[in-house]
Amino acid sequence: MPTDLNPTISHESFMKMIRPALGDITDVDKMAILKRSVIVVISKTAIYWRFPSPLEKQVKCMSWHLPDIVKASAKPIIANYKKQGPPPSNHEERVLWENAWLEEALRQHDRPHAPAVAPHVAAPPQVRVKRERIAFARALTAQTLRDPINLDSPSPSPKRHRGEPASGEPASASVPASSIPNPELPNTRAVSQEDDVDDVIPAVGACPELSLSQELENIMDEDGMDVASPELINMLKKAHILPEWRGQTCPRCGKRKMGALQYMKTHKVWAHRCNYRECHKFLQPHDFHPIFYMGAGSSHTPLQVQASILLCATAGVKETATHLVLDVAKKPVETIYTNLEVARSRYVEAKEKEISYGGWRDVEVDEVDVGRFVDLSIRDTKNTSWEQWGGMVERGNASSLRLFRLNPSKTKKNAPGPGPIKKRDWVPIAKKYLKNKNVVLHSDGARAYKMTFPGVIHCNVVHKKKKQMVNGKAEYTTFLFMFN
Ligand SMILES: [Zn+2]
Repeated sequence: MPTDLNPTISHESFMKMIRPALGDITDVDKMAILKRSVIVVISKTAIYWRFPSPLEKQVKCMSWHLPDIVKASAKPIIANYKKQGPPPSNHEERVLWENAWLEEALRQHDRPHAPAVAPHVAAPPQVRVKRERIAFARALTAQTLRDPINLDSPSPSPKRHRGEPASGEPASASVPASSIPNPELPNTRAVSQEDDVDDVIPAVGACPELSLSQELENIMDEDGMDVASPELINMLKKAHILPEWRGQTCPRCGKRKMGALQYMKTHKVWAHRCNYRECHKFLQPHDFHPIFYMGAGSSHTPLQVQASILLCATAGVKETATHLVLDVAKKPVETIYTNLEVARSRYVEAKEKEISYGGWRDVEVDEVDVGRFVDLSIRDTKNTSWEQWGGMVERGNASSLRLFRLNPSKTKKNAPGPGPIKKRDWVPIAKKYLKNKNVVLHSDGARAYKMTFPGVIHCNVVHKKKKQMVNGKAEYTTFLFMFN
């Protein structure tokens, strides 16, 4: 990068650079962070720094030619950190030293005349860490409302084999884990003690076997907080948004029926189970759904969030506004909106096949221009193509609406429209859906519609007021039917 010539980079480039650190958050949230923080990015060739500001501004940078900015003494510490080794023995001491250094730097800046902060504070002789089970941590907010945590009580014993009775000290300190109800699942049995007997928060300094991200993911998967409640599932079933799987044939084996909705303790979800002994597979209410989706890890979106997005989509909230309204990421919003569109068009395609006209009922037909495209690369005078659609509906029966795409000729750029439907577009439609069906066809005065077909009586409306003299007074009829 030619840093000497160009000592700043654009706001956009900088945002791109720090995007992995910010994640998928809204622009408003990004600016809220930028407004409050100093950000320093050290790349292989340059250092970039940005002071707090709520404005989008150029970010300063400087190339650096030093071979290494890490002190030799710090290298083994960093290497150890990278391979997730245990923290160095003097870790606490270093953290305290660092805090004191920072406080002193801030004092020199803010209050230069105040007494200096002691440069080195010795670590307190012994730090006692009170451990709790993860189940306890989950229920913490509900629990601490009633009972404060007793920090002086002993930590739970770390390992016990399943089925073996608790030995010695009480398993959990202040509250036994089995008595903690999951706040999100009032109707279900609390997590049994067998389930989380090994489920102890690791001691400070312990090296986890799994990578941290993996472990966090597991905890989030286990977490009951995002379980869709049976109330929500029943509500969606009543609204015919979710199907009733109970009693339906299993979609996986196709041999037996699905059972009632039940709480699956192992996966912490509500699901139906196949009755067939060799299948016994679980099925969540929104499995195989055309709009809702399943997903693991970071692409997992709880059903209640998906349902809220769907509500916004059907209530006419714009896709760009929904993620702000619900404070969720853009991705699930995009997925639900797209799935809804696809589901709608599939529905129309399926339903259209069932539509038929006849019985001397009134059928209306008209066309509409929905868009145009001007191809400026064409010097030709007729450079504008149109998106024109026709619609046909039986009067009083909105569900019989059938749409068909028309193929109008190109026009000049300033033409008001592509003109009425052409015979070449109308003939195949009329032959397929109206010929010999016995209908009264209503249309505008386009010439194509005036063509005669057996079993079709045509009548067109003239959009013109007609003056008639009735008893010496002028009266206007709004429209007139013309039969042919
Ligand atoms: Zn099955």
